[in-house]
Amino acid sequence: MNIHFACTQCGRCCHGLRLTLSVDEAIAWAGNGDTVQILTEALPQSEGNADEESHAEYEKARSFPATSGEATIRIAAILVAFHPGPCPHLRPDMRCGNYSARPRICRIYPLESRPFTNLSVERKLCPPEAWALGHPPLMSGELIADPAGARIVGEHRRILIEDVPVVSATCTTLGISTAAFANEGLAVHTPEPSALVAALQTAKAASSHLPRAEQWAIVTNRRSTLAILESAGCQAELVTRGGNYLGSFPDEI
Ligand code: SF4
Ligand code: SF4
Repeated sequence: MNIHFACTQCGRCCHGLRLTLSVDEAIAWAGNGDTVQILTEALPQSEGNADEESHAEYEKARSFPATSGEATIRIAAILVAFHPGPCPHLRPDMRCGNYSARPRICRIYPLESRPFTNLSVERKLCPPEAWALGHPPLMSGELIADPAGARIVGEHRRILIEDVPVVSATCTTLGISTAAFANEGLAVHTPEPSALVAALQTAKAASSHLPRAEQWAIVTNRRSTLAILESAGCQAELVTRGGNYLGSFPDEI
């Protein structure tokens, strides 16, 4: 199905969001004193010979190896700009006050930034009039219609994968070693902006021998998951939903 789109500049996508950032974007954002969080999840170690284009290969590329107790796992950690209300760069007229330096994710929206995920109009914040048939094409079937949009989505995905070693080392420097069980939630870490900038810059400057926290605890808000993790030899902890844990399921404690 083709999707047509034109931004109405309603500003909804600039409110109350977590914007995925590259390392350079996070340094700029936190360097401005604004909050950047690190969201972590623990993925099972993938097995078998995954096709290079497969979802499993992507999961491996966006994560780094670690252990939890006796289990071998992988950790996916992403940097996000966090603003519970309006973005600090949003002007009263709903225009971006940081337009030329806005993060890639802002340039991408409402395109889908993640691979293996189809764009769903219903899940986007844009009002109905933004999707009128008379607007320029955004998607031609499963393909991004605009070459510039396709290029920036590709760039965003590539850079996030290239950044993995630096984000991994940054977690170590900041003492971050807890992650949510994949597909159940995300553990939220909120370092001081200046400490995050220093850790990211140090990790960026060290081209090799980046430190890595090998022992991670897996957190969950479900007693049933805790039991499964412990029986698999993982170091697991029970938590409740809140500021430090974004859970997909109700607390089961
Ligand atoms: S940087 Fe600009 S486009 Fe991005 S969320 Fe903030 S105001 Fe919106
Ligand atoms: S929510 Fe959609 S229509 Fe509104 S400003 Fe963001 S991209 Fe434009």
